[in-house]
Amino acid sequence: MNKAESEWLENELRQVGWSRAPGAEGADLVILNTCSVRQTAENRIWGRLGFYKREKTKRPFKLAVMGCMGERLKQELLKQAQHVDILVGNFRKKDFISAVSAEVRGGLDPDKPLLLTEGGEYVFGELHSVSGFKAYIPIMHGCNNFCSYCIVPYVRGREVSRNPDSIMAEISRLEKKGIREVTLLGQNVNSYCYNGDSREQDFHLNFSGLLERINYNLKERNSLVERLRFLTSHPKDLSDELIELMSGDTLLCRHIHLPVQHGSNKILKSMERGYTREEYLSLVQRIKNSITNVSLTTDILIGFPGEEEEDFKATLDLMEAVGFDNAFTYRYNPREGTKAFSMEDTVPSEVKQERLASVIELQSRTRKGLQRAKTGRVVKVLVEGTSKRNKRELLARMGSDEMVVFPGSGKQIGSFTRVELLSLKGNTFTGKEI
Ligand code: SAM
Ligand code: SF4
Repeated sequence: MNKAESEWLENELRQVGWSRAPGAEGADLVILNTCSVRQTAENRIWGRLGFYKREKTKRPFKLAVMGCMGERLKQELLKQAQHVDILVGNFRKKDFISAVSAEVRGGLDPDKPLLLTEGGEYVFGELHSVSGFKAYIPIMHGCNNFCSYCIVPYVRGREVSRNPDSIMAEISRLEKKGIREVTLLGQNVNSYCYNGDSREQDFHLNFSGLLERINYNLKERNSLVERLRFLTSHPKDLSDELIELMSGDTLLCRHIHLPVQHGSNKILKSMERGYTREEYLSLVQRIKNSITNVSLTTDILIGFPGEEEEDFKATLDLMEAVGFDNAFTYRYNPREGTKAFSMEDTVPSEVKQERLASVIELQSRTRKGLQRAKTGRVVKVLVEGTSKRNKRELLARMGSDEMVVFPGSGKQIGSFTRVELLSLKGNTFTGKEI
């Protein structure tokens, strides 16, 4: 989401007279677009703020802090980082553009910071262009779920769904800029719900309906955008309607990122995820039964308060039962303001580390096994560039989000082709074009 929003910001800033500096060193304006999901992300920003404090003693420039840390830590930032000139939350990014557009003409007060943290409402940007051939397009903002460990609903607010016409218009604009693959973004895309405007009374569009519309539109006009993905699906809201849509002949990649977080019912309940282990496994079964060669990836959160050895084993067991193609694994960090913050952190740091290592080891073994079983398949790929190791080889991405290298010519970059998977080098396949 931050990547998409940073790219939107760059486009907007260009329109009011700014251009991208080759590096932060010579920049007249430095913007730190921040994340608060984990403490490590915030620590990195505090480190950067220290660096820019030193830089400011050497040359004049404006420093802006934007995003979730701007929402969560306003007072602390104002106190501890007095060299910050502009503080922007998630809801007044358009006002930020106007403010720095005035700054081109010298409009900011040099003596006190500009605060854009109160009020406002989230505005979907109109163009989130991405270099290369892929784009991330936000279709929703915020989250209504309040999982007990998560800061997102507090810093991003309640769910808002974007107008489908605006999503389609953005896809068409990006297609003209060379985009061939689109990823639709939201914290829980499955709860997308757009209630129509006055033109079409009683118009309600859910996520499957949105995908159907986009798919139909792209296919009907033989669009060069031949691939659609989406992130992230919440297991409690993924519908049978969506599974059915994905099992048919569509531009949707047969890949679902379905964060389970944990394998123990006790911990899932305390995380307030809204599903049990059995419900998750049954959903996975329905997906696998309907969508041939589907690729499933997940997020795993280790070390939540109260996690005992048997809860942890239940997570390993669930991972074995599903066989995820990939897993993003995290150590739990308490986030102030969330429900879990007041729960006693019962898992010692070294135990979290050991458990995380076991999860990573299991996932890497599972992935290898699944990848080996894929050799011999012929798959459609999007050529993204040349291989770093060998300029006569192309690097391409499969629908499952895995990479393959194969001999080919640079002219193919940005186009789709079909490749037979021959063997594996690390996590990357080697193949030949068919
Ligand atoms: N909306 C998505 C979902 O429901 O799965 C996830 C969005 S969250 C920003 C991305 C991932 O960060 C989560 O799946 C979770 O594993 C991880 N995460 C969230 N809060 C965390 C915390 N307090 N400590 C560590 N990891 C956390
Ligand atoms: Fe956070 Fe849960 Fe919302 Fe995902 S669904 S963003 S984990 S509160």
